[in-house]
Amino acid sequence: MSMRVLVTGGAGYIGSVTAHMIARAGYQILVVDNLSKGHRQAVGDLDLEVLDIGDATALRESCLRFKPEACLHFAARSLVGESRLEPALYFRTNVEGTANLLGALAAAGCRRLVFSSTAAVYGEPAGIPILEDDPRKPINPYGSTKLEVERILEEMSRAGDLRYASLRYFNAAGADVDAGLGEDHDPETHLIPRVIEAALGREPRAFIFGTDYPTLDGTCIRDYVHVKDLARAHVLALEHIDEEGGAFNLGNGQGFSVRQVIEAVKKVSGREFEVVERPRREGDPGILTASSERIAGALGWKAEHPGLEDIVGSAWSWHSEHPRGYTG
Ligand code: UDP
Repeated sequence: MSMRVLVTGGAGYIGSVTAHMIARAGYQILVVDNLSKGHRQAVGDLDLEVLDIGDATALRESCLRFKPEACLHFAARSLVGESRLEPALYFRTNVEGTANLLGALAAAGCRRLVFSSTAAVYGEPAGIPILEDDPRKPINPYGSTKLEVERILEEMSRAGDLRYASLRYFNAAGADVDAGLGEDHDPETHLIPRVIEAALGREPRAFIFGTDYPTLDGTCIRDYVHVKDLARAHVLALEHIDEEGGAFNLGNGQGFSVRQVIEAVKKVSGREFEVVERPRREGDPGILTASSERIAGALGWKAEHPGLEDIVGSAWSWHSEHPRGYTG
C-alpha cells in the first residue's frame, strides 16, 4: 500500500507517533504542522511543510502539489482550560482550520479523512462505559469545537462528499520508545507526565486534584490508552475507510484512578516523591471510560498495551531518556 497521506499536526504527540507508524506501513507521508506545539525532531526524516491550517491558500497549494489520497487531521488546539479563556481561538483553529483543510482536500480531489476527536464531545457522561450514540453535550469550548467538526463531517459524508472516521480519543498516554517519540507539552497539564516530572525531581511534588469523587479511592478514573494503540487505530481506520466510517470511541475500556497512576509511576521509576491533595479541578467528571466495542467489531482494533504499568513504564522510559523533552 503506498497511498499518499497528508498528516496535519504530525509534529505533535499522537500525530508524530501515528505518522511514523503509517510511514513504516508503507504509506507516503507529508506532514504539515505550524510547530506551535509540535516538535521538528518528532517529524524526523518524514517530509514536513511548516504551515498553519489557518492559512487556507498555503494549505490548498500544498494539497494541490502533494495530491493526498487521504488525510489524518490531528492539528488542533487541545487545552480545555485555555479553550474556556479563549473560545474564539479554538473556534478559529479547530473549526475554521478544519474547514480550510476540507476545502483544500476537495480542491485536490481527496475524499478520505481520519479526524482526531475526543471524549470531551460527551461532556458529563450519561452512563459508563460511554457508547458512541450517547448524548453529546460538551461542557467546554474544546469539546464543542470538536463536536462541530464531527457534525460537518457527518453532513459531508451524508451528501456523498467524504469518507471519514472520527476517532474519539480518551486519555492518550505512554510513548513509542523504539521510535524515540513521547509526550512533550508546554505547559504540561496531563496527569502521567506531570507525575513523572515529580519522580524525575523536575517538579517538587505531584498533585491529586480532588479526593472526594464517588469512586473507590475518591480520585478521578480515566481510560488511559497507549499512544501506540491509538496510532494503530489510525492505520486500521485508513485501511477500512472505504467500507467503515463514522465515530469510534478509542479507549482501553478499563479505568484507572489518579492514585493508581501515582502508584504505578512510583513502581516503574523506583522513586519516591511528595504527593499533595488539592481540591477538584473545574469541570472534571469523576469517571470517563469508553466502550470500544464499535471499533473492535468494525475495524478489528483491540488495545495491545492495556496495562497501566506498560503504559506508564513506556512514558517513564521516554521521559528519563529525554528529561527536558525534545529540546533538552
Ligand atoms: N490530575 C491530577 N493531577 C495533575 C493532573 C491531572 O490529579 O497534576 C487529574 C485530573 O483532575 C483528571 C485526571 O488526573 O481527573 C486526568 O487528567 P488529565 O489532564 O491527564 O486528562 P483529562 O482527563 O483531563 O483529559
